[in-house]
Amino acid sequence: MTKQVAIIGGGLTGMSAADALTARGVRCTLYEREATLGGLAGSFQVDGAWLERFYHHLFTSDTAMAELIERLGYGHLLEWLPTSNSYYAGGIYRLSTPFDLLRFKRIGLLDRIRLGLLYVKTMFVNDWRPLEEITARDWLIRMAGANVYHAVWEPLLRSKFGAYADQVAAVWIWNKLKLRGSSRGKKQEERLGYVRGGFGQVIVAWEQDLRKRGVDVQLETPVEHIVVKDGGAVGVEAGGAFHAYDAVLVTTAPSILCDLTPDLPGDYADALRAIPYLANVCLVMRLDRSLSNTYWLNVGEPDIPFTGVIEHTNMQRPEDYGGAHLVYISRYLTAEDPVFSMTKEQVLDSYLPYLQRMFRGFERSWVQELWAWRERYTQPVIGLHYSQRKPSFQTPVGGLWLSCMAQVYPEDRGMNYAVVFGRKVAEEMMADERRDATSNGSTTSD
Ligand SMILES: Cc1cc2nc3c(=O)[nH]c(=O)nc-3n(C[C@H](O)[C@H](O)[C@H](O)COP(=O)(O)OP(=O)(O)OC[C@H]3O[C@@H](n4cnc5c(N)ncnc54)[C@H](O)[C@@H]3O)c2cc1C
Repeated sequence: MTKQVAIIGGGLTGMSAADALTARGVRCTLYEREATLGGLAGSFQVDGAWLERFYHHLFTSDTAMAELIERLGYGHLLEWLPTSNSYYAGGIYRLSTPFDLLRFKRIGLLDRIRLGLLYVKTMFVNDWRPLEEITARDWLIRMAGANVYHAVWEPLLRSKFGAYADQVAAVWIWNKLKLRGSSRGKKQEERLGYVRGGFGQVIVAWEQDLRKRGVDVQLETPVEHIVVKDGGAVGVEAGGAFHAYDAVLVTTAPSILCDLTPDLPGDYADALRAIPYLANVCLVMRLDRSLSNTYWLNVGEPDIPFTGVIEHTNMQRPEDYGGAHLVYISRYLTAEDPVFSMTKEQVLDSYLPYLQRMFRGFERSWVQELWAWRERYTQPVIGLHYSQRKPSFQTPVGGLWLSCMAQVYPEDRGMNYAVVFGRKVAEEMMADERRDATSNGSTTSD
């Protein structure tokens, strides 16, 4: 008998799991509460081109995603582009290459050398396990000194993690530094990958491919409840009706799994809920001019309320978007922060004084169009000894599986890992089924 699996969440993890399970003859229903697939990597349209709601690019190590793009027929549009990184602290400092570091006058020469050595030393750290036992703060101070930490890293960690900044484990920052270092070309400039015209095209093509191969894609269909009977998941409730399945795979944040499944064992649910997740509000501005010549601008000034300014059209061509200059202003925050519930105009109004400070002459009238995208679960906070707390794919409820960003470790979440983890969970589900079949002395067939 063909197995029937419900997959909750049509982000890249859910799509990847549906892809892999379908290839093994499993019948999948993909439930997505939104009107489109893609989740955090989802897009909207600007002048006929797709633009991600939250800025997205690939690193050169993101091979699974690059191969998927190729398979879906968009490999010819995947470009690896040199990009510019800068740091804002009373002015814009370019920090794209080691030579830029030497010119970073915010700190003294010795500290600039320490900062540069931090990047070099990080490339030689291969064993991440000892980094589980030390916070990012303490590790950065040990590696580059207190001055460098307070002048450069502390504002960035506070800006991204807020009240959680001092809890973040060194593994997280080590992985970020290493990732960026490994995406550098021979001339030490960083190359990032982007599909010209937007990742949205790839997601649409993937959805069509999944549908053609038999995946039942249910859009605008939030799952309301996961039904558990005799210790096993037997189906889901969606649209007010019960639907029976042999297994249920959840690809949302762990807290959503807890909300949907009141029958989870209490200690397991408590452990899942104890993994903090930050929300994000991403303001996207269509401007009549460019703000600077940098693609990625980290904000290192403690009183500025946003984390980064990402000028997409300094990586991609404005002419692909009708000549517009597209700028994201990203802010990680808790869902309780009043900004999380503001209208797009209110968000922009609250940012105006800072934008005027950062970009000379900035006027509200430069903004031709405005969007604000927000999501509750966007970044798990990785604390100390996380390998002992990381949830596994298999839950204590039979036939109920979890694959989500909080399992991507020691790396940090990203589109590539969503694709890889969707496949991994599918493999584990199939292996479990084979084990069951063997222990029951039976075999399954399609
Ligand atoms: C600001 C920001 C910038 C990023 N930049 C990059 C980048 O540059 N490069 C990169 O590789 N990655 C980036 N990422 C990370 C990347 O987007 C994610 O790692 C990836 O998309 C996660 O996919 P996912 O499927 O695991 O989760 P999600 O995308 O969160 O998917 C979960 C899905 O579940 C759905 N859902 C929730 N509840 C229900 C329910 N009850 N019923 C049905 N559906 C439900 C949600 O609507 C969502 O579609 C970024 C993320 C953010 C937030």
